[in-house]
Parts: sequence; structure tokens; C-alpha cells
Amino acid sequence: MARKMLVDEEMNQTNQEEAYYDFDLFVIGAGSGGVRAARFSANYGAKVGICELPFHPISSEVIGGVGGTCVIRGCVPKKILVYGAAFGSELEDARNYGWELNEKLDFNWKKLLHKKTDEIIRLNGIYKRLLSNAGVKLFEGEGKIVGPNEVEVTQLDGTKLSYSAKHILIATGSRAHRPPIPGQGLGITSDEALSLEDLPKHAVVFGGGYIAVEFASIWRGLGANVDLFFRKELPLRGFDDEMRAVVARNLEGRGINLHPQTNLTELIKTDNGIKVTTDHGEELIADVVLFATGRLPNSKRLNLEAVGVELDNTGAVKVDEYSRTSIPSIWAVGDVTNRMNLTPVALMEGTCFAKTVFGKEPSKPDYSHVPCAVFSIPPLSVVGLSEEQAIEQANGDVLVFTSTFNPMKNTVSGCT
Ligand code: FAD
Repeated sequence: MARKMLVDEEMNQTNQEEAYYDFDLFVIGAGSGGVRAARFSANYGAKVGICELPFHPISSEVIGGVGGTCVIRGCVPKKILVYGAAFGSELEDARNYGWELNEKLDFNWKKLLHKKTDEIIRLNGIYKRLLSNAGVKLFEGEGKIVGPNEVEVTQLDGTKLSYSAKHILIATGSRAHRPPIPGQGLGITSDEALSLEDLPKHAVVFGGGYIAVEFASIWRGLGANVDLFFRKELPLRGFDDEMRAVVARNLEGRGINLHPQTNLTELIKTDNGIKVTTDHGEELIADVVLFATGRLPNSKRLNLEAVGVELDNTGAVKVDEYSRTSIPSIWAVGDVTNRMNLTPVALMEGTCFAKTVFGKEPSKPDYSHVPCAVFSIPPLSVVGLSEEQAIEQANGDVLVFTSTFNPMKNTVSGCT
């Protein structure tokens, strides 16, 4: 009997504590990680609120949209453009397979853009429905943290809403940044690259990561001249060196001009376009210059230092292996933590968070063997260790098996 009373007392205390908060969980940012964490937490019975900036294809400090980067300004629109671009070489191949494509083939960039925008609007609607079907309350506005259990949402008209929450989840993602070179304002980031009014005739891409390689492939596939500048010897740092060399050869094979170990030093507006200067003294004129030189965590405007949430020197939120920050009631998932910046990883982190906090099943995200694809044309996919990582981790020799072949499809069409 005495024990029962103790349990009841504990329950009462918990109930009183729960009753004090407006929400069990408040999520800031409705992208891949935030939506997943919010839905799954609600499915465990938590009362969940989430806030997201208003929708627009091009992001800013005050613009975003439910669905986040992947849906609105990342994976999805990019894949649509990759599919569009890949048809060019497919149609050429088709001729070698007997297709008589007699009439002149025209490509309509505006139509492709229109289709892409329709699709992201559709997905934005689906994501909103996913949240409402799970019983998550969505607020449109900019969220910031004002205390360990207190968030403030500034709505479009400037009015502020304040809510208390037992747990707060930061899922604000990351944003492209421009390198600090003279004339940087003349360049664009991947946000604008996905919504260009006109298809570039001559594009300069600066960066060696997957986003740079993918946009170079898209624009080249659609007929533009493309120069790709990057700082290392090969593009795609972090991937297997042998694969990087294959990708570089393929990009060149498709007609992209590669400029390894080269930095852009200045952009100047001229009557003929943007004059691009490099640290090798090269000069060329382009109508579009894309900076794909990295992304920074969206942590600046969240008031994190004031509440004691620790950041690393890139501005990423520091978390433990359960995604908990230095403040026990505040958690963070996705790109804002700069662990492995991919959509399925943000989803995994969101799932583990919900299981840990509301599912009574402490779960750590597992970063081993994450499959990864680069949608260059042709594409690259990897899973597991690169040769370089295997050598680093092995106690003995590492056996490497390599197979190179010409796809049967290409033997008939004569393409490479
Ligand atoms: P996000 O999806 O960015 O969501 C964060 C959300 O928070 C945004 O909607 C933002 O508007 C909102 N927000 C920010 N601040 C606030 C605030 N103060 N208040 C309210 N809301 C706020 N990954 C892949 O796995 N495969 C790919 O093919 C791929 N391609 C990509 C291509 C491009 C061009 C880019 C840029 C990225 C790509 N990614 C890809 C990466 C992927 O998009 C991200 O890793 C993923 O979206 C991260 O999810 P997240 O939830 O952390 O952040």
C-alpha cells in the first residue's frame, strides 16, 4: 500500500509537470528531420508543435517552406533537372538503336522549370498533410529559443507567439554560402540555380562536392558549355579516389572542362557577361557562376548562445550520440548538427530522437554503411568504406577488386 501511494505521488508530480507545458515537443524547422521527428513523436502520443518559415523556392533567413531543403531546394528539384538533362544523350543513343528522330528536337527550359515547381508545390502540400494527419500543430513563422523550455515564433505580420515545451528540437538545416571573393554577389547558389529564368549558355561552377558535379552535369546535359573549378586534384573529396578519377574522366568525356586545383579570385560584371578570374591567371566570360563551395548550419538566428546551447566553430549545434544538446531539454537533428548531411540521415536522426524521447527506446543513429549516390551524368553510388578508409582501419593488407567494363547498351550505340 505504501508503495502504491508513492507511485501515485510520482504520477501526480509528473502530471502536474506535464500540464505546465503547452507542448511535449516543439520543433523548429519542418524539413526532413523536423517533420519525421514531429510525426513520429506525435504517433507515440506526444503533443507536438512545429514552426516553419513561409514557402518559396529560394531560401533566405526568413523564407523556407514545409518539406525543407530536400523537397523544395535540394534532392527533388535537382533530380527532376537531372532526369530532364539525361534525355539529351538518351535521344542521341536512340538514333543508334534505330529510332528515326527526323524532326528537329527542341528543348523547352521554361516547361521543365514549370513542371519542377508544380512538383515541389505538390510535395509541400503532402508534407503539410503528413503533419496534420499526425495531429502536429503547424505554425508559419520564424522560431527562436528564449529559454530551455520556451520558444517564440514570429509570424509573417510580425506578431509573436510564445509557447512552453517539455522538449525543444532544433531542425533548422543549413544554407549555401558564397566564398568571400570580390564580386561574390554576381554568383548564385544552388537555390537560384534550381530556378533560373533562362538556361545558361556558358556556366562556371565553383566547387568539387556532389552539388557542384551534379549542376555541371545538368547544364552540360542540356547543352551549355560548362567549366568546373575545384581546389583538389579530383572532385568529390571523401569518396573513393579510384571512383573520383572515374567520375572526372566521365565528366570530361561529356564535354565539361575541368580545372583542378584552381580557385576563383574575382567576378566582374561586363557587357558580355560575368568575367571570372582564377588564381592561375585564367579569365573567362560566363553568363552564370554557381558557388557550390559548402553550406553552413542555420543556427545564427535561434538565440542559442543566450540559452547556453553549445555550437562548434562552424556554427553547428553540438549534440551527444542521442542528439541531445548541452541543455538537457533541447535536442537537434539534421544538417544543423553537421554530422552527415543527407536526407535519409536526417530522417534516421529524427526517428531515433522520437524513439528515445517518447518511445521509451533509447536509440542512437548508426552512421555506418550509409549508401550514397551522386547524380552526375552518368551517376555514381557508394556504400561502406572507401579504399582509403579501409586502409586506415585495417590491421593487415586490404584486397581491392576492381571491374571495369563498357555497358552493353553503349557497345551498340557507340557511346562512352
Ligand atoms: P532542411 O531540410 O533544410 O530543413 C530545415 C528547415 O528549417 C527548412 O525548411 C528551413 O526553412 C527551416 N528553418 C530554418 N530556420 C528556421 C527558423 N528559425 N524557424 C522556422 N523554420 C526554420 N541529400 C540527399 O540525401 N540526397 C540528395 O540527392 C541531396 N541533394 C541535395 C541537393 C542540393 C542542391 C542540396 C542543397 C541538398 C541536397 N541534399 C541531398 C541534402 C539534403 O537536402 C539535406 O541533408 C536535408 O534536407 C537536411 O534535412 P534537415 O531536416 O536537417 O534540414
